[in-house]
Amino acid sequence: MGEEKIQIIQGDITKLEVDAIVNAANNSLLGGGGVDAAIHRVAGPELLEECRELHGCLTGEAKITKGYNLPVRYVIHTVGPVWHGGARGESEKLKSCYQSCFALSEVHKITTIAFPAISTGVYGYPIEEATQVAVKEAMNFLQKNSLMEKIIFVCFGEPVYQCYLETLKSFSHEEP
Ligand code: ADP
Repeated sequence: MGEEKIQIIQGDITKLEVDAIVNAANNSLLGGGGVDAAIHRVAGPELLEECRELHGCLTGEAKITKGYNLPVRYVIHTVGPVWHGGARGESEKLKSCYQSCFALSEVHKITTIAFPAISTGVYGYPIEEATQVAVKEAMNFLQKNSLMEKIIFVCFGEPVYQCYLETLKSFSHEEP
C-alpha cells in the first residue's frame, strides 16, 4: 500500500517542479560536492546565506530552507552517514534522515517531495542497502500520512535507477 505514490526517475533533481527537494548536505550546511553543489548552483547565493543562519546540522537530522531560484518552495537539507562498513549505526542514521525529512514535510504541508540517493555518492553507502532504507521509510510514511501525494526518487545514472526499481518491486510484492 502506498507504492503507487512512489515514482522513480532518472535525472537532475534541480530541474524538478515539486514542493520540496531534499539535499544530501554535510554537517556544515555550507555547501559541498555532488548534489549539494548542484542545488546551491541553481538556487543562487541566497540559499547559502539562509544556510549560514542554521548553524549546521547533525548527521541523521534535517533542516528546511526556501528554494530561491529553484522551481520548488523548499529545500530540505539532511546529512547522511558516511559509510564505514555498516557496523557504526549507518542504517539507523540513514533511516533517521528519511524520517526527519518526512517530519518536516508534515509540518510544512508538503505534498510532493523528491529525494536524491542520500549518502551513496562521496559518502560511500552501498546503493542496494541505501535503496532498501529509502523505499521502506517512504512506504512507512505513506501508510500513516494521507497528505503526501508523490515521493520521487531521483537517480543519477542507470544502475541507481535499476536498483530502486528492483527494491520497489520487492517491497510491493511483500505481504503486509
Ligand atoms: P553524499 O555525500 O550524501 O554521498 P553525493 O551528492 O555525493 O552525496 O551523492 C548522493 C547521490 O546523489 C549520488 O547517487 C549522486 O550520484 C547523486 N547526484 C549527484 N548530483 C545529482 C543531481 N544533480 N540530481 C540528482 N542526484 C544527483
